[in-house]
Amino acid sequence: MLNFTKMDRNNPSKRGVMDRIKDFKEVYNVFDKNKASEQAERCIGCGDPYCHTKCPLHNIIPAWLKQTAENDLELAFNISNETSPFPEILGRICPQEVLCEGDCSLNDTHGAITIGAIETHISETGFDNGLVPKFSKNKIGKKVAVVGSGPAGISAATFLLRAGVHVDMFERAPRGGGLLTYGIPGFKLDKHRVERRIDWLKEAGMNFFANCEIGKDKSFDELVSNYDSVFIGIGATKGKYPNISGESNSNVYLAMQFLTGIQERNFGEKISTLVDVKDKNVVVIGGGDTAMDCVRTSVREGANSVKCLYRRDEANMPGSKKEVQNAKEEGVEFVFNVSPLSIDSNGVNLVKTEMSQPDESGRCSVVEVSGSEFIENADIVILALGFEQELPDFLKKANLELDKWNGIKVDAVSKTSNPKVYAGGDSVRGADLAVRAAADGKLAAQTMLMEFSKK
Ligand SMILES: Cc1cc2nc3c(=O)[nH]c(=O)nc-3n(C[C@H](O)[C@H](O)[C@H](O)COP(=O)(O)OP(=O)(O)OC[C@H]3O[C@@H](n4cnc5c(N)ncnc54)[C@H](O)[C@@H]3O)c2cc1C
Ligand code: SF4
Repeated sequence: MLNFTKMDRNNPSKRGVMDRIKDFKEVYNVFDKNKASEQAERCIGCGDPYCHTKCPLHNIIPAWLKQTAENDLELAFNISNETSPFPEILGRICPQEVLCEGDCSLNDTHGAITIGAIETHISETGFDNGLVPKFSKNKIGKKVAVVGSGPAGISAATFLLRAGVHVDMFERAPRGGGLLTYGIPGFKLDKHRVERRIDWLKEAGMNFFANCEIGKDKSFDELVSNYDSVFIGIGATKGKYPNISGESNSNVYLAMQFLTGIQERNFGEKISTLVDVKDKNVVVIGGGDTAMDCVRTSVREGANSVKCLYRRDEANMPGSKKEVQNAKEEGVEFVFNVSPLSIDSNGVNLVKTEMSQPDESGRCSVVEVSGSEFIENADIVILALGFEQELPDFLKKANLELDKWNGIKVDAVSKTSNPKVYAGGDSVRGADLAVRAAADGKLAAQTMLMEFSKK
């Protein structure tokens, strides 16, 4: 350990650009044993590790780094899988620079430990060597219904099954995984990794009911009556519009229509909407991770040109810096400091913007520059402006307390206003991160287990 002066931070290698833009396979390679061990040896083993505090799951990162450096794969695997429901997935998709790695003590001086890449290596190499997640064989006589199979639902189910609780999971889509499956593209996360986790839950006794929408195919009241507890993790995927003229034109699509349609096609499933961008000039409006997924998907779908339009400057983009870099490498052009005024058949009418002087709180707002209007030609416009929570009928009827954005209100331990019902993930927080959804599911499971132990 403490090798940070002798060894630089190295990121995992990437597939070459010309190769990777031809398909939806993952871009990053997994560290081999030597690389993972060498990178883990850079850790200084802080007494009070900020990486652990900043990880929403409070993963015991220094412990599994130490075991990786010492080549004890099994112990590293067990420690990593103890606190996380799917470390190999989060190691790939977490924006580490604002979470664990952002708070690594080496970040500002020598470069943070490559925590996410080592986390992925531990589980993937563990699986290759026959290690598997462990579940309890002894049942405790309790049963929980989980509504939604995204990261929140999978996490809740994982921690309940480990403790011997029977779980039935209800999912309206044909496959499990939520946005891990139908949102995040395969070049960031191979879909088989999500399927593999769900298969382990099924092997541990979970019943998985696909194509079963609660409120339509089965009533929510039935779940509340028939189960000891219910967990709701139904996400937030209603796309936001910019509220400008032309936004409903036939050449304008929401990010999720675009990404989901392509994923459905890749799976060979019934396609809800297929946006054909081949040989077209595509513009994507937005600057977050969803926008990056749309531009990079457009490249892989053979678009003639792909531009990302964002109303602030590059430094203020909300998305992961490494995904912006990947998009640039793949040929995406960025147009910063522009705001859309309207959309027509020629493309998007834009106005240039600049940042105001900081207000008392230090925040700069976006100001339009008068007389700077121009047209960005486009055949297809994709809106990636964030998501809202839906209010399905079953939630209206369930009489759960909601916030003003239709988010389900929960207390500090994930309980809703109905003592039998728990909730977490985007349906509580609004659009957020997979790791926070996973942390919510874990907390809900832990609270349920505490309640069960009192009875
Ligand atoms: C394009 C895109 C890219 C992203 N990239 C990243 C990333 O790189 N890193 C990251 O950390 N986060 C990323 N996110 C965010 C992350 O995916 C979400 O925060 C996370 O998936 C939320 O988990 P969840 O379980 O709350 O909801 P979801 O993943 O949305 O899952 C909810 C599930 O509930 C099901 N459902 C809804 N209603 C019902 C019902 N009535 N009955 C039965 N089932 C129902 C849905 O079909 C869905 O499967 C991205 C999001 C998008 C859209
Ligand atoms: S789950 Fe995310 S935040 Fe936590 S250690 Fe892994 S990569 Fe870092």
